[in-house]
Amino acid sequence: MERQVCLSDGRKVPCIGQGTWFLGEHRDRFIREQEALTAGIDAGMTLLDTAEMYGNGKAEALIGRTIKGMDRSRLFLVSKVYPHNAGRKNIFKSCMASLERMGTDYLDLYLLHWRGGIPLSETVACMEQLKKEGKICRWGVSNFDTDDMEELWSVPNGKNCAVNQVLYHVASRGIEYDLLPWMRDHKVPLMAYCPLAQAGNLRRGLYGSPVLKEIADNHKATISQVLLAFAVRDGSTIAIPRTGRKEHTLENRAAAEVVLTGEELDMIDKEFPAPSRKVYLDIV
Ligand code: NDP
Repeated sequence: MERQVCLSDGRKVPCIGQGTWFLGEHRDRFIREQEALTAGIDAGMTLLDTAEMYGNGKAEALIGRTIKGMDRSRLFLVSKVYPHNAGRKNIFKSCMASLERMGTDYLDLYLLHWRGGIPLSETVACMEQLKKEGKICRWGVSNFDTDDMEELWSVPNGKNCAVNQVLYHVASRGIEYDLLPWMRDHKVPLMAYCPLAQAGNLRRGLYGSPVLKEIADNHKATISQVLLAFAVRDGSTIAIPRTGRKEHTLENRAAAEVVLTGEELDMIDKEFPAPSRKVYLDIV
């Protein structure tokens, strides 16, 4: 994929990757989902996002089956640890279990799924230990708001955080007020989850929006592609749409070629305004 996001250590990743929440959970869809992920990888969507939580490890296992025999160095595998496992007692076991399910010996990125009761300093120390052991290449966080990021920056090695993965789509722009500027200032790329607002389920009427339709028509594109093009427009955001259908995977891949004009972004701003005050983080 031509459009890439550069992480702070210089590693480049495609600006559109593949999410896997709810995938791998139904036997009758397994092959179709595997084919969808494979088609994405073949087309350059080599970043795969998963978590130990997803289907209790079933999404990680689907990835394991999908990537078997592939050149591992082409892939960028992301998984997440539950907050209650993100301390000395469990994180090493959790990480090993994720690696086993995915059939790999390292993760490219390991995220704290959301903040829990374990002190950030302990989680960061464990993440650094996993890095030393070669089990992960880098680590990051998810569902962190600005105050969480500030706290993270105050703990030893907290600044080694590679990304923050949060909910972001055209109709949920709260992070643009202060979190996104903070992340830009501190050179922390955004991983945008639910970039399709779960096919519009998170915002009724999104896929029926005449404004998005007009923009889509301008590019002979679909509304999903406009949503993805919007999410990755700044060059430092990685969107991770999820689909279990090959045709949607390829459609999402092609969104990386859609570049919205200033005028189109103004139309979006009018219809789906960015906030003018602090809005707390949206989560699912
Ligand atoms: P998305 O916004 O990616 O939407 C997924 C839905 O969109 C599915 O129903 C899918 O259905 C549909 N879809 C995908 N592509 C298209 C298309 N081209 N046209 C029409 N419909 C489409 O929602 P997710 O919640 O899955 O978020 C994406 C990923 O982000 C997750 O899978 C997960 O990896 C990550 N995530 C992380 C969270 C965190 O706390 N860190 C929380 C939530 C998500 P179909 O299969 O039929 O294509």
